[in-house]
Amino acid sequence: MLQDHQLHAAELERTFIAIKPDGVQRGLIAEIISRFERKGFKLVAIKIVLPSKEFAEKHYHDLKERPFFNGLCDFLSSGPVVAMVWEGEGVIKYGRKLIGATDPQKSEPGTIRGDLAVVVGRNIIHGSDGPETAKDEIALWFTSSELVSYTSNAELWIYGVN
Ligand code: UDP
Ligand code: MG
Repeated sequence: MLQDHQLHAAELERTFIAIKPDGVQRGLIAEIISRFERKGFKLVAIKIVLPSKEFAEKHYHDLKERPFFNGLCDFLSSGPVVAMVWEGEGVIKYGRKLIGATDPQKSEPGTIRGDLAVVVGRNIIHGSDGPETAKDEIALWFTSSELVSYTSNAELWIYGVN
């Protein structure tokens, strides 16, 4: 049996991951979900949404001074986005590793962007870059009742019992 503190540790960390309109249109939803799922992270929220431009501007508010901000927000609101929350030990930092560098020309092969994208403006996926942004982004995209806490039987095998 997992001890309480181990279950707690596995559930502590959550990150916000979004498949952007290019990833959805290219039929990469299952491929992307699969990479997080096979790693051993746990899906605790998911929905498909069409964000407004105003909502996209909120999501990317940290980048509002950047020259690409307007085009980026137009793009995020140009089609359906798959919004998700993934949970697990180290999921924020390791989620970014699974995703790869922002510019797919620099993403390593084996990463989502490295394997599946070519240019920075169409890099198919978003992931929170730290604990504070994860908290803010989860709160922006989801209500607390949309976040589902549950125990997966696989956790015993993913985290062990020592
Ligand atoms: N972006 C862009 N041009 C740039 C840098 C970023 O179009 O020169 C886009 C790209 O889609 C990126 C998003 O803006 O994913 C957010 O930028 P950030 O630096 O936060 O990268 P990320 O956290 O997504 O890796
Ligand atoms: Mg970012």
